[in-house]
Amino acid sequence: MGRRTVELHSILLETQSALNHQATHDPLTGVLNRRAILGHLEKELSRIRRDGGSLSIGILDIDHFKRVNDRYGHQAGDEVLCGCVEVLGGLLRDYDLLGRLGGEEFLVVAPGTGDESGHLYERLRAAISSTTFTSRVKPVSVTVSIGVASCDGTTCLDDLLAAADDALYRAKRSGRDRVVHSDSPDRRE
Ligand code: GH3
Ligand code: MG
Ligand code: MG
Repeated sequence: MGRRTVELHSILLETQSALNHQATHDPLTGVLNRRAILGHLEKELSRIRRDGGSLSIGILDIDHFKRVNDRYGHQAGDEVLCGCVEVLGGLLRDYDLLGRLGGEEFLVVAPGTGDESGHLYERLRAAISSTTFTSRVKPVSVTVSIGVASCDGTTCLDDLLAAADDALYRAKRSGRDRVVHSDSPDRRE
């Protein structure tokens, strides 16, 4: 191949890779977008259905996030979203995945359901609530509620998401800033 052809080929590859990144990542926070993280979850579920194993998912929702925007402005809200992703990213293990489901809602996919995975969500919650985010306006603190559901390959994607979403709803209803597992009894606090 001539030098010019090699250069063009390398530009084409770079463009393809940039387009692929754009299609799969959230432009604000840089994590996987909704479609990509759900695609990964679907693949992980097929893998454990075939090879065995287990996984858990956590839906994280920032508490009273509307108030952050109302008090400090949308830009500060954006900075808090990016700050949360940074904190979460620092705690996740290499094999965990993080994506933005939309708005102020994120999904963690964590292989395994042993003790280590169980404690992961509590560590994420505690880290967010103890962080003071710097925004252009003022330092901001937020908390998150997390709904967790586990599966061993017999659950389908929609049921798993519904179970985590229901647990998230219970976390919100029982006072926010907490982790609720879908298996835990509903105490209607
Ligand atoms: P809850 O504790 O019940 O979750 O209350 P909430 O205020 O967090 O929930 P609600 O659904 O009422 O509001 C979510 C807010 O998130 C409203 C919306 O403006 C804001 N939001 C969604 N996406 C973005 C974004 O990309 N940037 C900013 N700054 N705000 C966003
Ligand atoms: Mg929400
Ligand atoms: Mg919220």
